[in-house]
Amino acid sequence: MNDCIFCKIAAGEVKSEIVYQDDRVCAFKDLNPQAPVHILIIPKTHLEGINSASPSDESLLGHMLIVGRELARKNGIDSTGYRILTNSGKDAGQVVNHLHFHLLGGQRLKPI
Ligand code: 5GP
Ligand code: ZN
Repeated sequence: MNDCIFCKIAAGEVKSEIVYQDDRVCAFKDLNPQAPVHILIIPKTHLEGINSASPSDESLLGHMLIVGRELARKNGIDSTGYRILTNSGKDAGQVVNHLHFHLLGGQRLKPI
């Protein structure tokens, strides 16, 4: 999708602080962090959100979680605790329509 900001970040067309990437996913620091560690993990292919994922994306979704877990470890928050979440749609507050998992930690997070 041409005007998708996260596609542009994954393609290197828009600058961001990328902390990890491989052939399937890209992870970068959130522009407006809500916690000391706030990283977004996205697929390099455009999916609007979790509603757009199909059974053929199972491996990709699992990979995104494992990457999130590894980034938690690399950022030293694996033992103190962290949250990995995705927002889907208006009521959840999704503003960027390219699937992303938030990795949040480094402080006591508010209960959800
Ligand atoms: P959502 O509310 O859609 O789940 O989260 C979107 C997240 O993307 C927000 O936390 C927002 O700060 C972040 N974000 C939006 N635009 C950009 C951008 O251009 N660069 C980066 N690094 N983060 C962005
Ligand atoms: Zn996109």
